[in-house]
Amino acid sequence: MAIQVDKQFLEKGHVGAMIEWLASIGKTENGGVTRLLYSPSWLDAQLALKNKMDQAKLVTYFDSVGNLFGRFPGTESNGKTILTGSHIDTVVDGGKYDGAYGIIASFIAVLRLFQTYGYPKKTIEVVSLCEEEGSRFPLTFWGSRNISGSYNLESVKAIKDPEGIEFLEAMNQAGFDPEKYTPPVRDDVERFVEIHIEQGMILEKNQNQIGIVTHIVGQRRFTVHINGESNHAGTTPMQYRKDAVSTAAHFISFLTEKARGVDPQLVATVGRLNVKPNVPNVIAGEVEFSLDIRHHQEAVIDHYCNEIFTEFNRVAESLNIEVAISQWMDVKPVKMDVEMYAWTREIAEERNYRYQEMISGAGHDAQVFGSVCATSLLFVPSQNGISHSPKEFTSLEELETGIELLTELLYKLAY
Ligand SMILES: [Zn+2]
Repeated sequence: MAIQVDKQFLEKGHVGAMIEWLASIGKTENGGVTRLLYSPSWLDAQLALKNKMDQAKLVTYFDSVGNLFGRFPGTESNGKTILTGSHIDTVVDGGKYDGAYGIIASFIAVLRLFQTYGYPKKTIEVVSLCEEEGSRFPLTFWGSRNISGSYNLESVKAIKDPEGIEFLEAMNQAGFDPEKYTPPVRDDVERFVEIHIEQGMILEKNQNQIGIVTHIVGQRRFTVHINGESNHAGTTPMQYRKDAVSTAAHFISFLTEKARGVDPQLVATVGRLNVKPNVPNVIAGEVEFSLDIRHHQEAVIDHYCNEIFTEFNRVAESLNIEVAISQWMDVKPVKMDVEMYAWTREIAEERNYRYQEMISGAGHDAQVFGSVCATSLLFVPSQNGISHSPKEFTSLEELETGIELLTELLYKLAY
C-alpha cells in the first residue's frame, strides 16, 4: 500500500535544499561546517534530524551514545534490519557533504520507497551516526564501533579533547548520561549501505557518476625513530658520522621507490618529520618520522613492510645507528559484499549510469560494518577531489543520481 509522504522529498532538487539546511547547523564564517561530537551544533543537528524523521512518520530513537535511528518496520519482519546512513560529525571547518549527504540520501530514498510501495517487507532504518572523523577526541568511528561492539565506555575513559574536557563529561553534557550507558551493539543488522562523496578525483577524472567500492584499504601507521650522534658540522669527517638526517633521507627514498614498485595500488606516506637538534651547523643526532601505509590486501602490506624494514635494519647496522620502529595503528582491509556489488552493478547498467569499480583509500563507517555484516559503499564525485574543506562540492545532478541508485538498491534489499 502506497503512503502519502511530504511532496518535497519526491522533488529532484530537494537534496540540495536539505544539504543547505543541515549545513546551516554549525555553519562557519568561511561557509564550512563544524559539528564536533557532543558539541551544541552536533546536538542541534541530531535533534533537527530527529524532528524531520518524526514528521515523516519514521519511528525514531537514540542509542546510548547518540546514534540516531529512524525506522520503518517491516511487514514480514524476521527481526533483521537493513541499515543505511552515514555520520553527522564533521572536521573543523569541513564541507557540507561529507557524512551529511549519506544521511540525507538515505532518508530521501527511504521516503520515496515508502511513498510508492508503503511499508517494506524487511525493517529499514536510516542512521545518523554520532561520530566518525576523530576531530574532537583522539578516537574515530565512535558511532559505528559501538554498534559493532568494538568500543564501549572503557575505550574513552581516559581521553580528553584539546580543551581538557573529558570524553564522558562531554557525553553527559550532550544528554547521554554515561551512567545510563548500555552497549548499543546490534546483532540484527543484516546489511549496511552507505553512500558518500568520493573525497578524491577518480570519478571526476573518468567522468563517471557512481563508484561502487569493492574494498576499503587497510592502514598501518608507524613511528620510525633514528638515533645517531649529534656532532660538529665542520670538524666531523664524513666517514665518522652517525647522521640521523642522511639516514632518514635514505630510508624515505627507499620506501618511496619500493612503494612504486611493489603494487600500483599501494601508497606509503611520510608526512611528519622531527629533527633534533634541528640546527644548520650541527649533525642531527635524532630523527623521528611517521609512516602511513595503505593497501586493500593484507599480504601486500606484509610484503612491503618486510622489504622496507629489512633494509632499514641492514643500513642501521652498517652505520652503527639505532633504529626503533613502533606501530600504532593497524586497521585491516575490508571487502565489501559481493552480492550487493552485483546488484548495484545491475541497477547501474539498467539505468545507464556511468559507473566504475573502486577501492576506497579512506576509512568509512562501512569499514566497521563490513567486518560484522554484509556491507556496500557507494561514491558520488567530489569536484576537484576536494574534501574536509568548505570548498567541498558535488553537483545536484550527481547527488540525485546517487539517491536514485540507493533507492533501487534498498528496494531490492527490503521490498
Ligand atoms: Zn565521511
